[in-house]
Amino acid sequence: TGEEKVYDVAVIGAGPGGYVAAIRAAQLGGRVVLIERNDLGGTCLNTGCIPTKTLLRAAEFAKMPKIAAEYGVFFEKPQVDYSRLIDYKDRVVRKLQNGVAGLLHKNKIELLKGLGTLVDPHTIEVRTEDRKSHRIEARHIIVASGSRPHIPEIPGLKEAGPMTSTEALAGKERPRSVAIIGAGAIGCEFAGMYAPLGTEVTLIESADQILPGMDRDLARVLAQSLHQEQVRILTSATVTRIGIHGGRKIVHVETGQGSQTIEADAILVATGRRPDVEQMRELGVRLEGGKIAVDDQMRTSIPSIYAVGDVTGIEFLAHAASAQGIVAAEAAMGRPSTMDYRTVARCIYTSPEIASVGLNERQAKEQGREYRIGKYAFEANGRAMTYGETAGFVKVLRDTRYGEILGIHIIGPNASELIGEAIMAVHLEATAEEFALAIHPHPALSEVLLEAILASMGRGIHS
Ligand code: FAD
Repeated sequence: TGEEKVYDVAVIGAGPGGYVAAIRAAQLGGRVVLIERNDLGGTCLNTGCIPTKTLLRAAEFAKMPKIAAEYGVFFEKPQVDYSRLIDYKDRVVRKLQNGVAGLLHKNKIELLKGLGTLVDPHTIEVRTEDRKSHRIEARHIIVASGSRPHIPEIPGLKEAGPMTSTEALAGKERPRSVAIIGAGAIGCEFAGMYAPLGTEVTLIESADQILPGMDRDLARVLAQSLHQEQVRILTSATVTRIGIHGGRKIVHVETGQGSQTIEADAILVATGRRPDVEQMRELGVRLEGGKIAVDDQMRTSIPSIYAVGDVTGIEFLAHAASAQGIVAAEAAMGRPSTMDYRTVARCIYTSPEIASVGLNERQAKEQGREYRIGKYAFEANGRAMTYGETAGFVKVLRDTRYGEILGIHIIGPNASELIGEAIMAVHLEATAEEFALAIHPHPALSEVLLEAILASMGRGIHS
């Protein structure tokens, strides 16, 4: 029975899903143990969000002389010491790991370093680094074990020794040329990072646009910008096999126009990630279409076991993992919280950045919503001009019946920050009218958001 259990909550995995769940459960008075086989912070902190954004910042610096020259400020041609950049990235990661460790300590969460295996609905066996085995008993278990990169079955790919994002972020050497398979968020971010640092990049995508599934207009603007960085983009292109010649990788690609080969020093596979559901399958947790079935409190078919983050295969985003972690922790501690995905924004940290929240046109149509589009370009915005970054636009979907803002999609400078206001609008089910009554500062990039909202009502002041 529940009374005999030692811990209220045991969490497997200390990524943004797991460590946030552990903190929330502890805040609510739970006795919590967090089990992690690797470094604190999971994929996001160690080999995902934070490392990529640090490297992308360096790519921005490398592009700076060209922009600055327009302003009459001249720099020498940038020299890139990539190994130093990786050292800097490692320092950022370490600082944040220490921050997480401090938070665990402050919240009196026990950290157990080792591999956790589910034994039954209330028991986890943990094998620590010293090869000792510990049995953890808990009333509730939150599984936040994440995902791993998916490597497609392409003849010759394994033999060619491809990198995934994990290896690409760890290596201290930057390839002179790279073929990136997959132009989703991760593939595009790597293209946008490598090219300005001096790597020759070919981006290969099987769908008919980069960022498959993303609003076409947004994808088009990004493709133009990548072209300007000399990234070669192949869409509707299937990699059929990979060979090696004189140490170089030869990527054979089939496109609508015929077949071609791309030579590169390295191959980066960015074809998505897969949740690791084996443990749960073995325990008898119900799966649906290869994914763990969870309710809106993140509970699996075994009521004492919750799943959050990438392992659920729902979002593959750090902030979604954390939000799910909070819901699971609160549910475990007896609160009636439920997960709502409406305000999960998607950000891509390319140049220009992309950020999007709420419904896109396809979803709005599927839901039978009547909407009107409002669009406004950054090139008409004073602040964007002063920045020298005018590519992109904001697109707003306004419900024509009630005036509710259904979705906001941004490509442009600082999109990942601008989306904050859009998230709030969608969260509060704000109408365009309400948004327009909020006075925005001038000059500011957020005026583009305001003008797009006004345009959706046919009331644009500057359009
Ligand atoms: P993870 O962060 O993967 O953490 C899982 C943890 O569980 C790991 O530390 C693992 O070691 C541990 N673990 C697994 N099994 C066990 C076990 N049996 N015992 C003990 N420990 C175990 N998302 C964004 O929102 N924004 C971004 O900009 C972004 N950029 C990304 C860039 C890249 C290159 C990649 C790969 C991902 C990026 N993501 C981004 C996605 C984001 O990293 C993930 O969605 C997020 O880390 C998922 O969190 P999680 O807690 O579910 O799992």
